[in-house]
Amino acid sequence: MSATPQRLELRFPPVENGLDYLVDVTNRLTTPPGVDPTPRDLKYAVRSLQDVTETLLKARLRQEHWALVFAKPDGASRAQYDQGDFVTCTLTETMGRLQKIAGLALPAKGVAAVKRLARDRNALAHWGLTSNAAAIEARAAAVLDFLLVFLDTHLLPGLSAAETAEAETTMNLVRSQLRGITAYVDKRTDDIRSVLAPLTAVTVECPECAQPALVAGGGQPACRFCLVAWQDPAAAARDYAWIVRGQTPDDRVEGLRPVQLCPSCEEEALMLEAATVAAQPDTVRLCLGCGTDHTDTKLDSCEGGCGWLLPTDFPGSLCDNCTTAAWERF
Ligand SMILES: [Zn+2]
Ligand SMILES: [Zn+2]
Ligand SMILES: [Zn+2]
Repeated sequence: MSATPQRLELRFPPVENGLDYLVDVTNRLTTPPGVDPTPRDLKYAVRSLQDVTETLLKARLRQEHWALVFAKPDGASRAQYDQGDFVTCTLTETMGRLQKIAGLALPAKGVAAVKRLARDRNALAHWGLTSNAAAIEARAAAVLDFLLVFLDTHLLPGLSAAETAEAETTMNLVRSQLRGITAYVDKRTDDIRSVLAPLTAVTVECPECAQPALVAGGGQPACRFCLVAWQDPAAAARDYAWIVRGQTPDDRVEGLRPVQLCPSCEEEALMLEAATVAAQPDTVRLCLGCGTDHTDTKLDSCEGGCGWLLPTDFPGSLCDNCTTAAWERF
């Protein structure tokens, strides 16, 4: 991961400017049925969408206090703010401050969609187009959806009547275009429906495109929607746990690590809480590597408190690491 370059904030685009960008984004993404947007349009749409997201979220942060858009608010000065001469906070910091300082409830799915968009932008800028157009459209649609609700709930109430009226007009335009983009995503979803129908028990939400199309098994979990395939099932399981369920390796599910070693294929890809298409909103214990459902497999947890399950038929109640650690204490 490269360091985020220091950015100077040179101007304060008002909310209307942000909304104009939104129209540009939807214009680029709206194409006739069966026609993909050009790679160039996708690239600029993603770039504009990230800019507009940043502009609109920061506009709300400014309503809270102008100093909050500084990278370091405790060193903020009004003179620098008025001249626009300061290093501004990142998009991730902006979302964190909106939640922690302004006390806004931002939907986890929306926050995840914005973060994925940032990755899209880096990927498009550095390596060209790697995902397919449908996946990028799906992700862009998720961000647009989040922004429209955010504008309504959190930003427009702080604007003047005239500003609100203008914003509403633009938002209606964006809403109608968003329906076109969503229709495109739905079309692709329809196309893969028959492929996915017999696989609901081993299909979960894809951490890359947020569509319920990531199919476990075969040692190489792959998404039928965005066509991303993971060479390493363990990495796919970590991505799913973190991006879809918000679980880090330090989190515990009933005292256990969210991703475990699979007793069948011995990959560290057994997800303790997999919301498969068949099981949701409930979860099952599913291995992304081999696709085995271990919900009913009897597996004991190590009594050493390490959070690992013991392999099947393991002799003893402590895993090897905890046994070693216990001996070292003597
Ligand atoms: Zn996907
Ligand atoms: Zn497995
Ligand atoms: Zn242990």
